[in-house]
Amino acid sequence: MSKVIVADCGSYDIQLLKSKINSGIELLGGWERFVSPGMKVLLKINLIGPKTPDSAAITHTAFVQALTQILKELGCTVWIGDSSGGAIGGISPTTRSFAVSGLEDMAKKEGAIIKNFDKEGVAAVQPESGCTDKMYIARPMFEADFVINLPKFKTHSAAVYTGAVKNLFGCIPGLRKAEYHKIAATPDKFGEVIADIHKAVDVGLHIMDGITAMQGEGPTAGEPYHAGKILMSTDPLALDTVALAMLGVKVDNVPMLVTAGERGLGESRLDKIEIAGDYVAPPRLQGFRLPKRYVRKRENVNSAIMVKIINFLKSRPRINLRSCKHCNMCVESCPAGAINRDTKKIDYGKCIECMCCHELCQYKAVELKRDYRLADIILRIFNMS
Ligand code: SF4
Ligand code: SF4
Repeated sequence: MSKVIVADCGSYDIQLLKSKINSGIELLGGWERFVSPGMKVLLKINLIGPKTPDSAAITHTAFVQALTQILKELGCTVWIGDSSGGAIGGISPTTRSFAVSGLEDMAKKEGAIIKNFDKEGVAAVQPESGCTDKMYIARPMFEADFVINLPKFKTHSAAVYTGAVKNLFGCIPGLRKAEYHKIAATPDKFGEVIADIHKAVDVGLHIMDGITAMQGEGPTAGEPYHAGKILMSTDPLALDTVALAMLGVKVDNVPMLVTAGERGLGESRLDKIEIAGDYVAPPRLQGFRLPKRYVRKRENVNSAIMVKIINFLKSRPRINLRSCKHCNMCVESCPAGAINRDTKKIDYGKCIECMCCHELCQYKAVELKRDYRLADIILRIFNMS
């Protein structure tokens, strides 16, 4: 049976974090089950872009610092790695992200090593799904003796939610990410790409920063929500299943995680997951706002009709020229080449609705708009808004 630890943690105080994480790991068999002195341990963080820790868009720097101190005290060498999304002037922003987040300074202070996945080389693997011939994954994922995934608890405007399972997408270096968005344009196909990454690498532990989560239009344009939780598990899908239950959302409503379950990444049946730590059942996060595009599946409505309604209601990205700073991050990151460089108009005939533009804009200038007023009426009829 998969086990997920849910711990209360009210702040990013380093000593508090260390104590809560250590207590949780004890319930999973203790650190000695996972690491030993001399090992190179990679912390695969969520560093989606050049964001500060209080933005709630990235794994908080203090959270990474607490893990770094714990592992150093256990005699391990600590690597901190990720690749940010998007590009400006053809260059991925990962170097800037490590500086802006404070992770670069923290790593220097604590004696950890930054692994910028855009600069560390790649290993070619054959994706199990056959979605493409070769998949290129950042080499540190294979060079480390042990990998710990440190996702952030966030909503996602396209995928509903992003957590432990999706966080491994950052193992694809720099601009290659856009290629995978293009070959896997729908959430379930994108789930196949994520599952391929999980199958190719070996991640032994998942520790989620859910202290300040992101609600609303995540993963970058939402607002912070104080959830005060840390989730820990060896099973990434079980961890995400529990996190979703905290939001009152079933895995069935998140196509990427449905695919993850079908591909055997872990347990997605809540009744087959043991919850331990400060709770024996998922604690509900009251008042947490889900993304606008999220439409709960209703058991009493015919599913074919539902699919049509959902397609009709889908909100699309639109660029607000009053907020736009013309940095062209969205233009260069759009896998479909759908955004006009000069006018910032989106060609919806080309758009594959991956929401990368919304996800990557640093200025929250890409808004999600429903196209039809009638959509709101239908949503109200089905009580889905
Ligand atoms: S919408 Fe955002 S990402 Fe695109 S050009 Fe404007 S500021 Fe840059
Ligand atoms: S316009 Fe935005 S949502 Fe559409 S394909 Fe381009 S990046 Fe994706």
